[in-house]
Amino acid sequence: MRVSVALFTADLRVHDNPVLQAALKDSERVVPLFVVDTGIRRTGFAGPNRAAFLADSLADLDAALRARGGRLVVRVGDVVEETCRVAAETGAAVVHLAGGVSRYAARREDRLRAELESGRRELRVHEASLTVVPPGALTPAGKDRNHFAVFTPYFRRWGSFSVRGVVPPPDAVRLPDVGSAGLPCAESLASGSTSPGLPPGGESEARRRLRSWLAGPLSAYGDRHDDLAADATSRLSPYLHFGCLSPVELLHRARAQDNPGAHAFLRQLAWRDFHHQVLAARPDAADHDYRPRHDRWCPAAKEFEAWQDGRTGYPVVDAAMRQLSHEGWMPGRARLLAASFLTKTLYVDWRAGARHFLDLLVDGDVANNQLNWQWVAGTGTDTRPNRVLNPLVQARRYDPQGEYVRRWLPELRHLDATAVHRVPHLDAAARAGLDYPAPIVDLAAAAARFRERRRAD
Ligand SMILES: Cc1cc2nc3c(=O)[nH]c(=O)nc-3n(C[C@H](O)[C@H](O)[C@H](O)COP(=O)(O)OP(=O)(O)OC[C@H]3O[C@@H](n4cnc5c(N)ncnc54)[C@H](O)[C@@H]3O)c2cc1C
Repeated sequence: MRVSVALFTADLRVHDNPVLQAALKDSERVVPLFVVDTGIRRTGFAGPNRAAFLADSLADLDAALRARGGRLVVRVGDVVEETCRVAAETGAAVVHLAGGVSRYAARREDRLRAELESGRRELRVHEASLTVVPPGALTPAGKDRNHFAVFTPYFRRWGSFSVRGVVPPPDAVRLPDVGSAGLPCAESLASGSTSPGLPPGGESEARRRLRSWLAGPLSAYGDRHDDLAADATSRLSPYLHFGCLSPVELLHRARAQDNPGAHAFLRQLAWRDFHHQVLAARPDAADHDYRPRHDRWCPAAKEFEAWQDGRTGYPVVDAAMRQLSHEGWMPGRARLLAASFLTKTLYVDWRAGARHFLDLLVDGDVANNQLNWQWVAGTGTDTRPNRVLNPLVQARRYDPQGEYVRRWLPELRHLDATAVHRVPHLDAAARAGLDYPAPIVDLAAAAARFRERRRAD
């Protein structure tokens, strides 16, 4: 009897899962395996919000497999050792795995291949699983260029890439005789408290959200995605991060709509692939400047704390940071302006901001988080690296009625739109009675400091 292992990582789904499909295709019995990887805990990447989402997602995956006659096999420990142990126990000849892009994933893959081969087993890596276009599949013309460093030419090629079709979910999954630990709970995966407004994880929830997104809001995405109060983005990012939803399926279903909203949405999905292919080629960009600007960042410990707590005195920045701590999520526009405020206005190292985001974001992802932070800080792939977003202008443009600010800052809830926008300009007398801080930094002085420091090198 031929047995193989489908090792789940960031592809926690049964729909459109090339790893699971390949395992089922080449064997009569398959072990759908998830290893609670104690190595990830040591990297500090296991935040409580993502742990809770992961626990939901594993329970949902187990239910989907049980509905097909199978179940999820869970092991706890070093992912390579545990996978090899399961393969040996069940006599599996092949382990199937989705290709990842982080340094951690690359090392895991190398170690797993070496260990399996030493036991005369095989590792098969499926690249077309975590992104629409596999990292490395598109490269610019010219020698020695293994990835695109600029988004627009990448996007042009991305749009005409021949994307694989959607793989149907399996009807049945039959396991060999194999033992399993219990499904992990959030508390066993990470310590610390979760954000109160965290979304539920899992493929079932992902598919429910996908259906309602495609049925209406998608068509208005182009006009509304930057409107902070409208909450008009898909909120699918955590489901994409954990692979509860396949980006390939999402692409095909959004493409079928062929309207301006869908086109704008697909562009964002391409940004996800873009960052993945940058990280795959430059894994060091997770913590080193992609394009060094020789910044001498400010330590600014007190200002950094005010930023984390949503007490900078700039209401739209503070609203964004309070949403992050309440929901473990924020829309793209809020991430941009909060990150620009930290890196360019306060001139604090992007790594500190990225770390704070990773501690809280339920979609926290090395490729998207680190490279977006670098993009905003001007050390990444932005072709205008020295632009500074002014939080007053951003607030007027993307929250003209002050609704977003009032939603997240209860202390300003009694103010009307005009008054909300005036808050940073109030003098001490006018501020009395308002439980809200004065701005921690002067914008003009901060912009001059940034220009001066960047120019100095
Ligand atoms: C400083 C900063 C940090 C970020 N950190 C993360 C992160 O850790 N994880 C993460 O998934 N995204 C991150 N993003 C990208 C983006 O903000 C989020 O993907 C998006 O806000 C998620 O909300 P949504 O699902 O409603 O997105 P939508 O607007 O509905 O977009 C659809 C999908 O496209 C992708 N996408 C959209 N914008 C981007 C982008 N700029 N880069 C890459 N992919 C994008 C996401 O997968 C998203 O789910 C970050 C952006 C910034 C500026």
